[in-house]
Amino acid sequence: MEFGINKTKFMNTRSLVIALVAVGAVTGGNLWIHSGDPALGFNRYNKFDISFDYDMRMQLREADLGGYSAPTDTVGSVQVSYQDGDYLQQYGVSWAKPKVIPNYFERSPEGALDYFFENVGMGGTQIVERSECKTTTSGGHEVIHQTFGVPDGGYTIPGIIGAWYCDETGRYRIFYLIYVPDFESIEVPYGGLEQMWSDLLGGLTCHVT
Ligand SMILES: [Zn+2]
Repeated sequence: MEFGINKTKFMNTRSLVIALVAVGAVTGGNLWIHSGDPALGFNRYNKFDISFDYDMRMQLREADLGGYSAPTDTVGSVQVSYQDGDYLQQYGVSWAKPKVIPNYFERSPEGALDYFFENVGMGGTQIVERSECKTTTSGGHEVIHQTFGVPDGGYTIPGIIGAWYCDETGRYRIFYLIYVPDFESIEVPYGGLEQMWSDLLGGLTCHVT
């Protein structure tokens, strides 16, 4: 599991912002994503009972939760990211069957979040400022979510993460977003982050119905 900045540069900021708006407009809160092909300029991820469309200029990476080997039906993670200079966006889905979560974590979405953050920490990424959890509903599941920060290179990158139990597939699911529109003015209001996270989550298929 890897958060943060690298020096890749392959797209200008303005065109990505426009594409992001299109993600929300096309997939937000409806069933469009379940049928037909991805919209022009988008790829579709469709494995492990998870499906979502993402801007094809984003880089996709899959791994287990530790980032050491390939994802499996039991535990895994898929992440898409884009960075251009002062702009950073990264989001992804992780999953774990209850049996792989160590006993010292609660069998609950809160416990799944703690387990996820333990893996992030073991990967060398520090997480700060985890907020109180709030609850929302998406895809027929009750989803808890909180904001967090990732200290990186003198900045604290804001993030938001949610977790739920998918009883249809028997796995905990986690969906997170980190987003910095401009490193020159990094004080992103968490409210805007939550809306973006919520729109992206609305485009995610968590289980096939
Ligand atoms: Zn589900």
